[in-house]
Amino acid sequence: MSAVRMDGKALSAKVRGSILAETEKLKAQGVTPGLAVIIVGDDPASQIYVRNKEKACEECGFYSEKYALPAETTQEELLGLIAQLNVSPAVSGILCQMPVPPHISEEAVIAAIDAKKDVDAFHPVNVGKIMIGDFDFLPCTPAGVMELLDEYGVDPKGKECVVVGRSNIVGKPMSMLLLHRHGTVTICHSRTHDLAGVCRRADILVAAVGKAGFITPDMVKEGATVIDVGMNRNAEGKVCGDVDAAVMDKAAYMTPVPGGVGPMTITMLMKNTLKAAKLQHGIQD
Ligand code: NDP
Repeated sequence: MSAVRMDGKALSAKVRGSILAETEKLKAQGVTPGLAVIIVGDDPASQIYVRNKEKACEECGFYSEKYALPAETTQEELLGLIAQLNVSPAVSGILCQMPVPPHISEEAVIAAIDAKKDVDAFHPVNVGKIMIGDFDFLPCTPAGVMELLDEYGVDPKGKECVVVGRSNIVGKPMSMLLLHRHGTVTICHSRTHDLAGVCRRADILVAAVGKAGFITPDMVKEGATVIDVGMNRNAEGKVCGDVDAAVMDKAAYMTPVPGGVGPMTITMLMKNTLKAAKLQHGIQD
């Protein structure tokens, strides 16, 4: 039997529709959510992500500003721009597309963004809040995964949840959100012994590795829910995930790539921007 496809594109359209409806209400109160997106250099993948974010802003009725800076931009110049955006009343959220060129410190950029405008939820203050479970902004990719699980009625409570990958942007916050929802969480990484055996225990398996076809059917329990966060390019240049397509025949639910977690990530960014606008204007949810 083939797994149910967890359609992130369809769910995104639904969530963006409800964000637009809320935006219209906010606009009637004189508040327009605004997102400033900064991109440094001309990395082609980053250009696509930034375009998709601008498009999502339009769909949600937001104001947006884009700053496309040359690769030679100095850290001081970039931090100067962020300081201006931190105090701009039109800007509710600030996002600097990563990676930045190597002469700029990612940590310095993240720390420079006002935590109240940090819609990526990368700032140490927001990371700390996620850890204690009292957060304003949700980490976008993990939050998108949680919405997909909810939409398809997959409740992590009491389940074995295995997250492969421990990055600050996906693996770690993903594990925290599953833990907050009472999953029994195991985090795996490149030094994990018997990775296949650990993965086979999972009722919910999240792959965030960055290697095409890394999770093979022998690593998956029959009837598991498999979330594929990976965004890789295969030998033909086609976008593909971390999970081998043959896993579809073993899992009960699975996210496709593209069209699964990717669109949800951007939609969660929009949700955070809306929340930021509300918080900055003292408007309750
Ligand atoms: P990172 O490269 O930061 O992290 C990869 C993780 O995978 C690391 O923790 C690493 O372990 C682990 N890993 C690597 N090789 C192995 C192995 N052989 N066995 C077990 N674990 C391994 O990647 P990100 O978390 O940033 O991204 C992961 C993937 O998700 C990428 O494909 C990325 O493009 C995609 N992505 C997709 C998003 C979306 O919206 N769909 C958003 C963000 C990312 P260790 O720590 O030990 O090195």
